[in-house]
Amino acid sequence: MFNTKKIILSRKIILMGILLVFLLILTACGNNGEEMPQAKENAFLMDTLVQMRAHGENAEIAVEESMERIREIEKLMSKTIETSDIYKLNNNSKTEIEIDNESIIVLEKALKYAKLTDGDFDPTIGALVELWGIGTEDAAVPEQAEIETALANTGYNHLDLADNSAEITKEGVKIDLGGIVKGYAAEEVKKIVQKYNIEHAFVNLGGNVLVIGDKVDGSPWKIGIQDPRQGRGNVMAVVDAVDLTIVTSGNYERYFEENGKLYHHILDPKTGYPADNNLLSVSIISENSFDADALSTAIYVMGLEKGMKFIENMENVYAMFITEELDVYLSSGLKEIVTIKDSDFNIIEGEEIAN
Ligand code: ADP
Ligand code: MG
Repeated sequence: MFNTKKIILSRKIILMGILLVFLLILTACGNNGEEMPQAKENAFLMDTLVQMRAHGENAEIAVEESMERIREIEKLMSKTIETSDIYKLNNNSKTEIEIDNESIIVLEKALKYAKLTDGDFDPTIGALVELWGIGTEDAAVPEQAEIETALANTGYNHLDLADNSAEITKEGVKIDLGGIVKGYAAEEVKKIVQKYNIEHAFVNLGGNVLVIGDKVDGSPWKIGIQDPRQGRGNVMAVVDAVDLTIVTSGNYERYFEENGKLYHHILDPKTGYPADNNLLSVSIISENSFDADALSTAIYVMGLEKGMKFIENMENVYAMFITEELDVYLSSGLKEIVTIKDSDFNIIEGEEIAN
């Protein structure tokens, strides 16, 4: 009697086990199709629209954690949040300030690119950014004398970094990490996505796009490059992307017009004016968003000739330049993954420029 019951019970357990395995296989099958769980979120963070999508078992928690992470980074590195490391540094010049290790990492990378680009990228651009106020209601062309003063308060040699502290060594110098911090945040999102073994994900921090893996159906992500002509919301080209980042800096993102002239938010640290070099936008395509963000700003400042040379000398980093004439210059190796969608634009391969 007792034995039979035991047998029935164990049969039940076996049956349940088989069912469970069957269910697991079913969900596993779903992994190649539409049934794979996915999570999406849009939020306004770091002064821009952040969009994220992930597919996989832990998609939801990965997206949630990523958004939280971006918020944390913003709290440390915003210029305007009074408790941030950058605010503390900017408002206590000539004082060594202890700051978070993450802020050190971003400042170090910013200084690295400042040196590498001979100051075309400069994280001490804060005084000039404040003076121009582009993107705020007070944006206006400053007096030349004000520009001179702000220029004198710009220079990465006025920023000292130590293991866990930093110091602005000249009064009036201000740090602005707007040209690099979104790239850092994108790489931190990548770490979270990888921690949860998610194979397909996408994050866009206001034009700073990073894709992880390919799409669920095995095809590359199609990343649109925005038409840089003002007021046109359409996509002028598409990049096929697998495990890539595409970071665009353009004159159409933040700007104002005065006397028929456009003034945008990417400033030339040598002149104190918005970089004026016939470019509408520069997109950097590579594997690392942190570097690509600094580069997109720097290469925009350099302009086509110098910028193309710079990129052609780098390994695994590509660039797409769009000029005011709507000519599209691609660095070598990029043609294979870029498709122009709008016949107003003409592709010109970049090798000639670089040589
Ligand atoms: P976006 O932030 O619009 O995506 P960028 O990555 O090109 O575009 O960054 C532009 C921002 O970087 C500006 O809003 C400003 O905060 C800062 N910035 C402007 N000019 C420079 C420069 N020459 N070097 C470093 N940072 C800059
Ligand atoms: Mg940038």
